Amino acid sequence: MNFGTDAQRNRYVPLLASGKVLGGFGLTEPNAGSDAGGTQTTAVKKGDRYILNGSKIFITHGGVGEIFVATAVTNPERGTRGISSFILTKDSVDLAATNEIGIGHDESLPKLKGFRSGKKEDKLGWRASDTRELIFEDVEVPAENLLGQEGMGFTNFMQTLDSGRIGVAALSLGLAEGAYEEALKYASYRKQFGQAIANFQGVQFQLSDMATEVEAGKQLVYHAAWLAQHKKPYGKEAAMAKLYCSELAMRNTIKAIQIHGGYGYTKDYPVERMMRDAKICEIGEGTSEIQRMVIARHVLKDLGA
Ligand SMILES: Cc1cc2nc3c(=O)[nH]c(=O)nc-3n(C[C@H](O)[C@H](O)[C@H](O)COP(=O)(O)OP(=O)(O)OC[C@H]3O[C@@H](n4cnc5c(N)ncnc54)[C@H](O)[C@@H]3O)c2cc1C
Repeated sequence: MNFGTDAQRNRYVPLLASGKVLGGFGLTEPNAGSDAGGTQTTAVKKGDRYILNGSKIFITHGGVGEIFVATAVTNPERGTRGISSFILTKDSVDLAATNEIGIGHDESLPKLKGFRSGKKEDKLGWRASDTRELIFEDVEVPAENLLGQEGMGFTNFMQTLDSGRIGVAALSLGLAEGAYEEALKYASYRKQFGQAIANFQGVQFQLSDMATEVEAGKQLVYHAAWLAQHKKPYGKEAAMAKLYCSELAMRNTIKAIQIHGGYGYTKDYPVERMMRDAKICEIGEGTSEIQRMVIARHVLKDLGA
């Protein structure tokens, strides 16, 4: 939507926006994580094609997705200005399931030879999300699949991350609020010492902190989203919302387990899963340390330093 030509938008966006086909965002590499500018995947121009070689790691929808955007170095002498992005297509790894449920595959998408996904990661949380390596072996990509201008891929991906951070902040907030609601409900009916544990001040103080921080998180997320929607600068606010809400999701899910006592440590209640799911929010779309770096860069710039 942001960087494509009309032809690219018409070809790919309806398939993705309608949910017919899943897509993925290929930035992270085995040796280029937080420092995504260290991309080692290469794209060498040959006539009307680019030849891609390399790999990406930890890509959400890597196996079940069919449309991807990925970065590759087109000019090694220009640093991050020598990184471009490409639209790449392949089949879902689970065509039997896509046939059964009627979504997840589009026959008309080209299957680029040499482009495939690797093994599915066995993760702590986000168990329902398909995370995989993407592998490029002499993939011939038509020049028309270049997304945006050559050399602008890294810049465009960083811009995409800014808005993605509002999404991760929102899902973190949902986990934080959900954990709070579970804790509140449980504390209201679990009885010890002859009364509901919600009557104990020690438990009440935890619930108060959880509720207050959820409200604070809402203000940060909605403010960042409002700025983005009104086309105002929002990079700092998105990083702040993502940092605060992802760390809040961890704090609240841990408190929720504590309020559930031993039962919270079992799979009989949802709070243990919430804690496992929350952890990735402090890592994906830029770790908490990277958010602090982004925020520091903004506040120092604001100071004119
Ligand atoms: C489930 C899951 C889904 C993901 N989905 C995608 C996806 O769809 N697309 C995609 O491109 N990527 C995806 N990722 C990758 C994710 O964005 C990276 O894992 C993340 O950016 C961190 O990179 P890394 O794992 O290489 O860690 P590293 O960069 O190696 O970091 C290791 C540690 O060092 C710290 N660190 C690094 N540099 C600094 C610094 N300058 N100052 C202070 N601390 C620093 C980090 O904060 C971290 O704590 C996903 C990851 C997971 C686990």
